[in-house]
Amino acid sequence: MQPTQDDAGKRFEVLVIGSGASGGWVAKQLAEAGVRVALLDAGRAHTAKDHREHMRPFDLKYRDRATELMRRTRPRQKDCYACTEYNYDWFANDLEEPYSTPADKPFSWQGRTRIVGGRTNVWGRQSYRLSDQDFKAASFDGYGEDWPLGYAVLAPYYDQVEEYVGITGMSEGVYELPDGRFQPPMGLNCAEMRLRTRVKDKLGWTVTLGRAANLTKAINGRAACHYCGPCERGCMTKSYFNSAFTTVADAMATGRCTLITNAMVYKVLMDPDRNRATGVLYIDRVTRQPREAHARVVVLCAQALESTRILFNSATTRYSNGLGNSSGVLGHYLQDHLWVAGGANGEFPDLPQKPTLDGPHRPDGIYVIRFRNTKEGARYKKFLRGYGFQGRSSANFNLRAAGFGDAFKKAVNEPVTSLGLSGFGETLPRRENLVEIDPGGVDVFGIPTLRIQMTWSDNEKAMIPDMAESAAEMLEAAGAKNIQPWTVPNRVPGFGIHEVGTARMGADPKTSVLNQFQQSHDVPNLFVMDGACFTSSGCQNPTLTIMALAVRSTDYLMGEMKKGNL
Ligand SMILES: Cc1cc2nc3c(=O)[nH]c(=O)nc-3n(C[C@H](O)[C@H](O)[C@H](O)COP(=O)(O)OP(=O)(O)OC[C@H]3O[C@@H](n4cnc5c(N)ncnc54)[C@H](O)[C@@H]3O)c2cc1C
Ligand code: SF4
Repeated sequence: MQPTQDDAGKRFEVLVIGSGASGGWVAKQLAEAGVRVALLDAGRAHTAKDHREHMRPFDLKYRDRATELMRRTRPRQKDCYACTEYNYDWFANDLEEPYSTPADKPFSWQGRTRIVGGRTNVWGRQSYRLSDQDFKAASFDGYGEDWPLGYAVLAPYYDQVEEYVGITGMSEGVYELPDGRFQPPMGLNCAEMRLRTRVKDKLGWTVTLGRAANLTKAINGRAACHYCGPCERGCMTKSYFNSAFTTVADAMATGRCTLITNAMVYKVLMDPDRNRATGVLYIDRVTRQPREAHARVVVLCAQALESTRILFNSATTRYSNGLGNSSGVLGHYLQDHLWVAGGANGEFPDLPQKPTLDGPHRPDGIYVIRFRNTKEGARYKKFLRGYGFQGRSSANFNLRAAGFGDAFKKAVNEPVTSLGLSGFGETLPRRENLVEIDPGGVDVFGIPTLRIQMTWSDNEKAMIPDMAESAAEMLEAAGAKNIQPWTVPNRVPGFGIHEVGTARMGADPKTSVLNQFQQSHDVPNLFVMDGACFTSSGCQNPTLTIMALAVRSTDYLMGEMKKGNL
């Protein structure tokens, strides 16, 4: 097969780079509409052997206990809670594909998967809409820029994505977290329900079920979840959303999408005279040989930082500081969420639950909707923007029981019902948080690597103690005992694994890289449809918005192709 045409001998019309959350949708929408697509991914194919959720530790060579061994090849990827002996082969080898940071500004770039489906293989599936409190945050508090689009135009695309993905959730009617098209809720347990009712009564804040991409009703040949638990190891019943067996599979089923795996894209190729992208240069990861693929349109969906890296590496005489970077904004305004930096735990001895060693495991928790700096509430003096909480209640064996002998055995079997809340805070978009090409760095394929630098501003730092205080306040309101607030003041950026913003959208080409359809202001047949486009981050997990934006922009792209504009 020539990389300019598919098996049927037809020329590709669009190249989509990356088969994860965003790329899967772009390929599906295009191929189903009749467009010939090549979907290139740096990772290998996803196969049935990648469903490992029912494997037991004793099926593994090191019983999932050889953390240090994994760190030898994946020192950064192992920072990620989801990277285990079950699945570490899905993650990039950090020694082969390094990046750097200034010594005093560490950044943990995790979740660099190298398998079709990208990060959706291992994601936590929490799926929240942004509201105009996020899209128009700058108008509200004067910091940064508004997005070039608002909630109303994205709402139908959220609907479309949610109905296909399958999100369990509860409608709440809260402006800051618009409701969606939910599947039946997984349900809250007693302690969570008590938190929900008492927090609403006493504080007016909303505790709801986490909105998660786990099916409670079968759709599209995917079964309802059977609560086995470890979705980050795969799911043979396809009950969580992973683009490998949903959007990408749909695109492939059309016969119009050619999947090119192990294709590590180096740069976008340009026709400088026509100022058009003509294709991409990639390195075959297996043979290490350079190859090219060509098409009318190039869409980058390689994950925010990887797409930004490709744009920097595509510099030309005209765009000497990065392709499509006439604004000088490319690489800047890196954001991640302030992840699990503050919260609290408490116990509910009056609500005993029966602990089990291997019982049903709801793959979802609870969510507390942002309550600082809301549309109708008072402006919060300590910081701009806000944070939400993720958490859950569970009953565990009392493994810390004191004593020994019969009394100890009895005490171990006395369950402790606990409930924990962890804050996820919005990061302000600051120019000094950035990625750039490391002048000395190349990966094993000879592709220049990134240098990343990010620090928290005083605004984020001020959220951390507030998270601990408000979480404790909620637990207090719910009547919890032994409440323990906690903070992690030195949380390293990157742990949120929600990097966005490094090729931001905007109405003004002088201050942004992309327009509202994720189209390069400079090179019209070049699009970046992943989270690089975010103008600000909100405090909600980004992927639902990434997917809704990609679907909207793909509609626009197809319209422009039909009109002959691309
Ligand atoms: C452990 C974990 C938990 C998470 N939990 C949540 C959550 O609960 N909610 C939420 O909203 N988000 C969550 N996220 C983030 C979420 O997974 C990402 O926001 C989302 O997958 C991003 O989609 P994407 O299309 O931009 O990139 P990805 O889904 O990562 O896909 C990018 C694809 O591009 C490929 N690629 C990269 N570089 C190149 C290249 N040079 N050439 C060719 N291909 C390339 C990769 O192999 C990959 O397949 C989580 C992430 C992780 C790792
Ligand atoms: S908990 Fe549900 S979605 Fe997750 S792996 Fe098990 S069956 Fe699949």
